[in-house]
Amino acid sequence: MPARTGEQFIEGLRAQPREVWIGGARVDDVVTHPAFRNVVRSVAALYDLQHDPARREEMTYVSPSSGERVGVSFLAPRTRDDLMRVRRMMKVWADASGGMLGRSPDYLNRALMAYAAAADYCGENDPRFAPNVRRYYEVVRERDLCLTHTLIHPQANRSTGPAGQADPHLAASVVRETERGLVVRGARMLATLPIADELMVFPSTLLRGTDEDRPYAFAFAIPCGTPGLRFLCRESFDPNGTVFDYPLSSRFEEMDAVVVFDDVLVPWERVFLLGDVERCNKAFSATGAVAHMAHQVVTKNIAKCEFILGVASLMVEAIAVEQFQHVQGKIAEIIYSLEAMRAFARASEADAVLDRWGVMTPAWAPLDAARNMFTWMYPRMIEILQLLGASGLMARPTRADLDSEIRPLLERYHQAARLGAEERIALFRLAWDLALSAFGSRQVLYERFFFGDPVRMQMATFGSYDRQPYIDRVREFLARGATEAPRAAPAPKR
Ligand SMILES: Cc1cc2nc3c(=O)[nH]c(=O)nc-3n(C[C@H](O)[C@H](O)[C@H](O)COP(=O)(O)OP(=O)(O)OC[C@H]3O[C@@H](n4cnc5c(N)ncnc54)[C@H](O)[C@@H]3O)c2cc1C
Repeated sequence: MPARTGEQFIEGLRAQPREVWIGGARVDDVVTHPAFRNVVRSVAALYDLQHDPARREEMTYVSPSSGERVGVSFLAPRTRDDLMRVRRMMKVWADASGGMLGRSPDYLNRALMAYAAAADYCGENDPRFAPNVRRYYEVVRERDLCLTHTLIHPQANRSTGPAGQADPHLAASVVRETERGLVVRGARMLATLPIADELMVFPSTLLRGTDEDRPYAFAFAIPCGTPGLRFLCRESFDPNGTVFDYPLSSRFEEMDAVVVFDDVLVPWERVFLLGDVERCNKAFSATGAVAHMAHQVVTKNIAKCEFILGVASLMVEAIAVEQFQHVQGKIAEIIYSLEAMRAFARASEADAVLDRWGVMTPAWAPLDAARNMFTWMYPRMIEILQLLGASGLMARPTRADLDSEIRPLLERYHQAARLGAEERIALFRLAWDLALSAFGSRQVLYERFFFGDPVRMQMATFGSYDRQPYIDRVREFLARGATEAPRAAPAPKR
């Protein structure tokens, strides 16, 4: 089957009922439920972009196995040009939401591509696992399935690992192995986009190499409708109002869920790693998956910076504050964030190398810088929107107000120097949805945490970055200075 259309994505969701809970009730159908229907349409629109005749080459390529055209986000890059091709495709999807749909399907397609190319890594754990992961990648690519993933153990007690919790089955673990597969019990958090087709349950949290941590060490993937699998969602941030009133939250509310495994049977053919703590701990970096995911992330970051730059520029122009120095400085700050993200993306591609699996892998150092710096760049850009918008972010009547008898008042008192009232209200409602709504706040939390705890990511950079050449250089400089005679100050120029 070639790359799917939006309608085929929706049909896939209908064909696979899953156990999703929200607001104390089980969801009958995610396609029609008010908490999900709008984001379902937004993800469907991404799939439709693959069928835009003008974008065929950009969005799809010929599958090496079926000869069908499949999504470029599944492409295993062999050259730098391939990497750039993948980025261009991912940018089309990111721009469709201004970067607000962090979990567009390309994010995990990049991870799965890398795991499949590095299937032998899984095979060294158990020879069955290498063909498993290759086959799974083929299935997902050829059926153009949408994935969500869950990596983190529940937050109950972070002073100890999953085995040290009061309830050893709090964190998802393997409780039995049967002829048919693994039986998994416990929970993981979070799974963003529970309207996916499949759930990847992969290792992330560092485990200790002791016997007691072994049941928590695994990687597998199952359909979201697997019996015993439950998605416990937070309340929705989609108010189900008009697009005018909620331009972002009524389209791109991805939803986040805690995932509960109630003795879920995972068939052997869907198991990719098992019981090997050390291999699980290293899996994302050893397979290159983390670099390919970060390549998607920096692309999304570029889209997000561009979108915010556009919003901020329109705001300052609307209310004629662009001549003030600090306003220009704040817009410049957004530009610096954008240019930094662009530079990181370019550097990661320019310094890409073929990894040991034969995949052209973007350089990690610039991507690591990008993912970490965005955790404070994004909140700062949101702060800038607040500082520029000020009370205008609260003077934001709704569509219903505009359609009511108070419209003449709104036209008079909500106009801006360079925009009529309706246009100004639309713009400032957009800025509010970015910077202040529940949706906007969640975006800030997302950017701070979705790729991991920034504190521990920085510790990882500290631990892994090769600083020795610079330490040696400075030592050598200091030693040189100690034996040199003091220099005379240069004579002043006349
Ligand atoms: C909006 C959103 C969407 C997400 N989507 C997904 C998803 O789709 N899939 C997925 O798998 N995960 C997802 N996550 C989870 C994300 O991976 C985690 O938030 C992240 O890894 C941090 O873990 P935690 O939230 O459990 O924080 P915790 O580990 O509980 O940290 C809480 C606080 O304690 C500190 N802390 C805890 N332990 C240590 C330590 N050992 N050393 C130093 N400081 C420590 C942290 O720095 C932090 O300040 C999402 C998170 C958010 C916020």
